[in-house]
This record gives sequence, structure tokens and C-alpha cells, in this order.
Amino acid sequence: MSTIALAVHGGAGTIARELMTSAREKVYRDALELALKRGHAVLKEGGAALDAVEAAVRALEDSPYFNAGKGSVFNADGQHEMDASIMSGDGLRAGAVASVQNVKNPITLARRVMDKSNHVLISGLGAFEFAHKQKIELEDDLYFFDQFRYDQWKETQGTDTYQLDHSDKEKKFGTVGAVALDAHGHLAAATSTGGMTNKKWQRIGDSPIIGAGTYANDSSCAVSCTGHGESFIKAVAAYDVHALMSYKGLSLAEAVRVVVHERLPPLEGDGGLIALDHVGNIVLDFNCTGMYRGQVGADGVLHTAIFR
Ligand code: ASP
Repeated sequence: MSTIALAVHGGAGTIARELMTSAREKVYRDALELALKRGHAVLKEGGAALDAVEAAVRALEDSPYFNAGKGSVFNADGQHEMDASIMSGDGLRAGAVASVQNVKNPITLARRVMDKSNHVLISGLGAFEFAHKQKIELEDDLYFFDQFRYDQWKETQGTDTYQLDHSDKEKKFGTVGAVALDAHGHLAAATSTGGMTNKKWQRIGDSPIIGAGTYANDSSCAVSCTGHGESFIKAVAAYDVHALMSYKGLSLAEAVRVVVHERLPPLEGDGGLIALDHVGNIVLDFNCTGMYRGQVGADGVLHTAIFR
């Protein structure tokens, strides 16, 4: 029996301290804590890391405070297009969806791609058809509406700029993710996002790309990223943490430091990642002012944080 551990994130970025009231901070921390509880409950009962990360990410998708599921940002057409991926470190099984609409929990659809199809990544209308066939829970557009996200979109509507999930003084990435280690020694990672405000042309970021936004391998680590997706794709960020551990023999902390503070910044890769190794070490790191994050290790105590 190995130790159990779980970490979650709700996005990283330039989170303005002056805009963070204690009431607002509590709302975020409560949402992170709920996600930790959902995932930890699975692990405590001897459940699979894969089920734990799915449960944790579903809780974050259901919260309107993060840019994933309910509360996803608006694209250039005023719609919500969501991306998600999930990976098991046991056998390197993976599933992902990109540019899906009206799916209540994109992470569950990604899981279904992994379990019930011969593919790893499906997208758009095809993914919607698959969701329908799999009887995945759907919601109408109104469910995903959030006034704050709508106002964000209105600021950029009709322009060529696309925005990270931010308000005037903030630039943050509200993507969500989870990594877990179960009692059987298996690792898993999951990531879900609405992408970027005012995105065009079915733009897809790193979150549904295995190796870029999500990666898990029982021999090394599980990783979920958040940040400027284009940069994370170019850096193959999540896989690079695994590669540095496997090929160079670095510890989890050292591998994460290299990726977050050396590899990503020259690519304008603002953001961060959460990672967990096969003995239960947890590393949550970022190269911007804050990251909504939480963790629970062997002692079972839940911790959440936003700033450094
Ligand atoms: N990485 C996501 C993307 O580029 C954004 C985020 O992390 O919030 O789509």
C-alpha cells in the first residue's frame, strides 16, 4: 500500500492582491477545498487516482468561479468552447476533448473517450455526437452564463485581441486541474478549461493536449498545467517534467523548477503547474503572482493557498 495524495489548481496568473477581499478569497478557498474533499474521499476508500482526479475536477467545473465547465469564458462568437483531458499513469491511458459545447462536465467526456473509444482526442461536433451517444449530461447555454465573463468578453468583442481570463488589473488563467496518487501506487492527472476570452477559429490551448497541459506516468509523476497555452504546447511542459525526472534523474521539485522558471519564461509562458510523484511528494509552482491551489497529503489535512 502506498501513501495517498491529491493536489488541485484553479488557475494561475497575475492575481491582484488589492482586489482580493477576504470574502472573495474565502469563496475560492472553499471551492478548492470542496474539490479536495471530493477527490480525497475517493482515495481514502481505496479508489483509483483516475476517479479521484475526475471527481475533483468535476467539483471545480461545477463552480462558476473558475474558467471551466460552468463559468467558462466566451469565445469570439459569444459561445463557450471547452477543452479537457485526463490521463492514467497506469498503462498511459488517456482521453481528451477539444472545442466542445454544452457538455456540463467536459472532464467526464474526456474520461469516456479514454474508456469507450479507440481515440485519445476528439473535437467539436464529433465530440458532441459522441457525448450524446454516451448519454453525457448536457446543459443549455444559460447554464454556462456568468455576468463577469460576459463583461470580460464585451471588452474585447469585435477586436482581434484574445484575452487570458482577466479583469483590468488581473491577468489570470482560470483553468482547473488535479493530480492524484492512490493506495495502489497509481498516478493520474486531469485538466479542464474554457480557454481564452474572445478566442477565434476554434483555438485550442494546452489543456486537452496530452504532454502539454496534462501528463501522468506511474514511473515518475502526474502533472496538470495552467497558463498561456500556446507556450505550454511549445514547451511540451507536462511531459518535460516527466522527461527531466526519467532521463536526467531530477527530483520532482527540481524538474518542476526547471520547467516553470527556466523553460517557460523565454517562451512567454506565464503560469504554473501542480505535480505529484510516485512516492507522494507534491509540488505546486508558478512564475506569476499567484495560483489558486490546494493539496492533501498522507496526514489527511487540507491546505489551500492563492499567493506565494
Ligand atoms: N492553458 C489554458 C489555455 O491556454 C488557459 C488557462 O490555463 O487558463 O487554454
